[in-house]
This record gives sequence, C-alpha cells and structure tokens, in this order.
Amino acid sequence: MSDSITLNKHYGASHVAPYPITLVAGDGIYVRDDNGKQYIDMVSGISVTNFGHRPKVLIDALIEQADKLAIMPRLFHNQPVGQLMEIICKSCDMDKAIPMNSGAEAVESAIKVARKWGYVEKKIPENQAEIIFCEDNFHGRTITAVSASTVDKYRKNFGPLTPGFKAVAFNNAEALEAAITANTAAFIVEPIQGEAGVIIPDAGYLKACEAICKKHNVMLIVDEIQSGMGRTGKLLASEHEGINPDGILLGKALGGGLLPVSLFLAKDHLMKVIQPGEHGGTFGGNPLASFVAYHAVKLLKESDLLQNTQQVGDYFLQKLRAIKSDIIKSIRGRGLFVAITFNEKVSSQDVFERLLKQGLLSINTRNNTIRFLPALIISKAQIDEAINIITTVLNSYE
Ligand SMILES: *Cc1c(COP(=O)(O)O)cnc(C)c1O
Repeated sequence: MSDSITLNKHYGASHVAPYPITLVAGDGIYVRDDNGKQYIDMVSGISVTNFGHRPKVLIDALIEQADKLAIMPRLFHNQPVGQLMEIICKSCDMDKAIPMNSGAEAVESAIKVARKWGYVEKKIPENQAEIIFCEDNFHGRTITAVSASTVDKYRKNFGPLTPGFKAVAFNNAEALEAAITANTAAFIVEPIQGEAGVIIPDAGYLKACEAICKKHNVMLIVDEIQSGMGRTGKLLASEHEGINPDGILLGKALGGGLLPVSLFLAKDHLMKVIQPGEHGGTFGGNPLASFVAYHAVKLLKESDLLQNTQQVGDYFLQKLRAIKSDIIKSIRGRGLFVAITFNEKVSSQDVFERLLKQGLLSINTRNNTIRFLPALIISKAQIDEAINIITTVLNSYE
C-alpha cells in the first residue's frame, strides 16, 4: 500500500471510501497514478474539470491574479467579481448575483432569498414558507440541503432537519401543481438530475413547470451546478428547453476546475429582497476565485467547446448504443452528460472496477448506474479509445 493510502485511511474520517489508487497528475483528459498508470478521466471531478486538467489560460489567469490581489472580503469593491457577475448575468439573462464557494452554499443562498421573497413580496405568514424540491434530487450535503433530499442515507441520524420542504416526483408537472399552496415560495429543480443518474425529463416538462410557477406566483430556480457550464453542449442545460427561470444556481466547473466558485443568480424581482448584512461569507466573490471563474465563462463562450460537446457527445452516445450487450438496461445522455444503467445481472460497482483496471475512470452512481462525464475538450479519437475500453469490459461479462 502506498503511503498516501495508509495516511488517508489512518487520519481520514470514514465519510468517504476512496478506491485504493492514488492519483498524482493530470493533463487534458488523462490522469496518472503513483505507479505511472494512465487513465482516461471520465469523472472530471464530477463535472468540475470541464476544461480538462491543467487548462493553460485558466492557470495563467490564476497566477496573474494570485500575484496581484487574491483575497479581499466584500467590505470593499474588487474588479474581478464585477467582471464575473457581468459576464454571467448577461450570458444567463439574469440581473443580480450572489457569489459563494461551494454548490451547497449557493443552494442555501437561494433558499434564504426565496424564503424572504415569500414573506416580503408574497406575504406568506411568518415561518410558513414552503419550498418544493424533486424526489431523488441532489443539492448538496449541508443540513438544509439534505433536509430537501429524499435519499435516506443522506438524512438518517442527522436530524432535526430543516422544516418547510416538500418533495414531488421529478418529470411530473401535475405533481408540482398539486403540491403548491398559498405558502409556496419556490420550486428548486435540476434540469437534468445528475447524482440520480443523468435523468433527463421529457421535453416540455420544464416549460410546463415554468407556466405552473408563473400561474401560482412561485419562484422557479434551476440547479445547474452539475448540468451547467457547457456539460450538455449549452452554457445551461435549461436552455435546451427555452425556459426563463427566476433564479439559477451554478458551481462545480464555474471555477474552471481550479477553485471552488458558486453563484446564485436571480432576476431583480427576486433578488431585490436581500439587504446588506443579511447574507454573505468570508470567501464569496474573492478576487482570485472571481478572476478564474470570469475566464472560465469567457473561455466557454469564446471557444468551440460547446459545439465540440454537442458533436462529440452525440458521437459518444451513438457509439455506446452500438455496443451489443445484454447487461445494459438503458443508455441516456445529452452532450457529454452520459450514463448507462445496468440490469440485475451485474452491479455497477463491479463495472466501475473493471473499467478502472482497463484505464478508465467513471462514476458509480445510485440506481445501478455508471456516469461518464469527460472534459468538454475530448476528441472523437479519444472517445474511440474510451469506447474500446467500455466494449472490452462489457464483453467480459459474456
Ligand atoms: C454537486 C452538486 C451540488 C452541491 O455542490 P457542492 O459544491 O458539493 O456543495 C448541488 N447541486 C447539484 C445539482 C450538484 O450536482
């Protein structure tokens, strides 16, 4: 066992159970372990290193800003946070931004603002505001985020949980409408459920949710933390459905794969309720993270990465669907947000391990599913390389 595995096991709490390899370096779509073995990285930090490992322009930006002014709380103005908020608000058709660090913090920000909007604007009686989520969602691991979860493991023994949340079936607009009451402030939904296994709702679902929210004066907030930043071939996955939400959550790849950066974006009618001193965080909107995130968004908009994601994503799906295997239950994907669900003949954990041995890192997800989230820079030739490995592994079950 390598030293790092011993140390990780000895001193690390058991909230994680890392697979026993130690990754030491990355370059583009590849990573390398401490034995020099190379892997195709189809984890990408769970949709974080969307620009690949060691993205040159973003590293240059990181160094430039680190050498100028890295941290300054928002007691004062700084230049990069303004640049970041401008480019992202303009790109997402939003008015105002709250910059935070992790995704869960952005979710917390949205919940606070939506609740306050409920009391101040919708005149919901004090402490009665409700927020609706979807079953099988993932919005993070804070007490409030797990309070909104329906996954037992995330909640059990962590109570008392935050009240005021309801869950409705995903991909069911009627269920949403039936759950709305006079006290409903917001509906928070992933446009494509990531942790649940790349669950893509039917065309028209989000549009129907938008109409229902409008009709009942409920704020529609889309959690694009995993599905955004180009993962599906557009800046936002919700763009595929042509909706106009009241708020958007971004995180993960927003920091260019170099730093944790998240944002809660909203229209003025929602964000105007929050007042100085009511919300914040030491690191939110710091110059270093903001400058890197600004360049990450700029890179996505000015390069051909979105186009590449669409083309190579379609190619990947087509190649996966051409594999003949009787252990596959279903294959889904949009852009480079791709998953295979297996039938009861195999466990996805076993598939994950065989892929890893053959040199491909994937994500073993709930519901006997493997997710493939390569960096958006991946080429068709590199997809062929991955398809060879996947085919070999699936054939090994014959
Ligand atoms: C990862 C994720 C989060 C939480 O982000 P963290 O940075 O881990 O706190 C929230 N929502 C979605 C959809 C995610 O995929």
